[in-house]
Amino acid sequence: MIGHFSAAMTTEVAHRLEEHLQRADGQEDCCFLLWRPSSGAHRTTALVTELVLPEDGERILHGTVDFTSAYFLRAAGIAAEHGYGLGFIHSHPAGRGWQRLNDIDDAAEEAFAAQTQVLTGRPLLGMTFAGTDASYGARIWQRHVARRYTSTEAETVRVVGERLAVTFNDRLVPVPPASNTQQRTVSAWGSKTQSDLARLHVGVIGTGSVGMLVVEALARTGIQCLSLFDFDTVEHVNLDRLLQATARDAQLHRAKVYLAARAARRAATAASIRVTPYEMSVVEPDGFAAAADCDVLFSCVDRPWPRAVLNFLAYAHLIPVVDAGVAVDARGGRLRGAEWRAHIAAPGRACLECLRQYDPAQVTAERDGSLDNPAYIRDLPETHPMRRNENVFVFSAAAASAQLIQFLTMTTAPGGNADTGAHLYHLATGTLDRRQDGCNTGCLYDTALRPLGDDANISMTGQHHAAEQTRTARSRAARRWSVRVRRAVDDIVWRLR
Ligand SMILES: [Zn+2]
Ligand SMILES: [Zn+2]
Repeated sequence: MIGHFSAAMTTEVAHRLEEHLQRADGQEDCCFLLWRPSSGAHRTTALVTELVLPEDGERILHGTVDFTSAYFLRAAGIAAEHGYGLGFIHSHPAGRGWQRLNDIDDAAEEAFAAQTQVLTGRPLLGMTFAGTDASYGARIWQRHVARRYTSTEAETVRVVGERLAVTFNDRLVPVPPASNTQQRTVSAWGSKTQSDLARLHVGVIGTGSVGMLVVEALARTGIQCLSLFDFDTVEHVNLDRLLQATARDAQLHRAKVYLAARAARRAATAASIRVTPYEMSVVEPDGFAAAADCDVLFSCVDRPWPRAVLNFLAYAHLIPVVDAGVAVDARGGRLRGAEWRAHIAAPGRACLECLRQYDPAQVTAERDGSLDNPAYIRDLPETHPMRRNENVFVFSAAAASAQLIQFLTMTTAPGGNADTGAHLYHLATGTLDRRQDGCNTGCLYDTALRPLGDDANISMTGQHHAAEQTRTARSRAARRWSVRVRRAVDDIVWRLR
């Protein structure tokens, strides 16, 4: 039984829907939809992938709209044949914001919920479109008792592509109360944008030098729901780059993600914030499922495997991924240059593989453990990214900032523009390159995988030995008396502050 429920589609599908539903004569209209499930740990999302537009005589317009059983059977037949779920959308031309069903709508959808389940094997997705501001509503029809179908309302409908536009179900995800700590932020973009931003469920993958800065900024901006992922432990070598980290955290073998969660709670300006730290990698099945509950993900990792998994979440599950990276050229012990990038993987934009943010061959090497083998790394060319680990706090700050700017641009569309392309900054020349085209021709993420959700027949996740060893080492350290006592005292002192 589906509990938390959402719907999502690409900007391209939304455009086609609007073209059909926004009628010049102002009448209501409708059409059938095809969808695939995307399952997270706690949320199921219906990914709307296709429209089954009505043919002549298949629908009757008379101010309100009706469809023939032939139309229903044709659409259900297509869904059943290709393994899709069936959906139905109708418009409320004068509506604004999230549309709930009136009694007539409710009875109409309920009437074919059972048949849809039988014909397609999946529950009926009901959707509503508000003509005034192009917002959406959604619900899923499930059987509760014999022959009795009732609808569960979605919490959000997100449209993903150039812009991330989310319609929130205010009843289930209430508009956050105004807070006087956010006056300056709200005066920059208004309370509507603030309430849309604050209600996004944001995931940050990797809470190292870049991720820690991103978490701080998100919490101060008023984001209410954060999921943080990192299996790593704070070490002394991190202290020059890791915001929040102290020598004591390194001594106590603290998990980076624990530091990030604590920092988010301290920095939060939202009246209430829910921060969930996951001591795991997104490549592990549980990490992947928790990431699939998010509306948008920040990729603050530097390894190929998690980047490939995130790329997959962006295109197959319609969760946009804001990615950044830093490369320092310090050959011969001298700073020759540095580059930092920030870009977003989402349908219609170039993916992380096409942007060469990871090499698929290295994903295989990481999966079989080679990248954690010092001998393998030693044999790579000296210029290979896996061999170069120089970085400084200032470059991390620049990358985090560029990444946050990408996120803000996608969600708030300053001056009406939500996509300014993939950014690459060069330190030595002070220049910025932008790439504005989409994926390379034939890219799988842009074609075959998009957006298959759970139906994608490839396994991206697996056992991650380095993550397991790190967690084991940390809990072994925590079992030592000295660490336990110091950590307990430290926590008490921290709470008293
Ligand atoms: Zn209606
Ligand atoms: Zn691509």
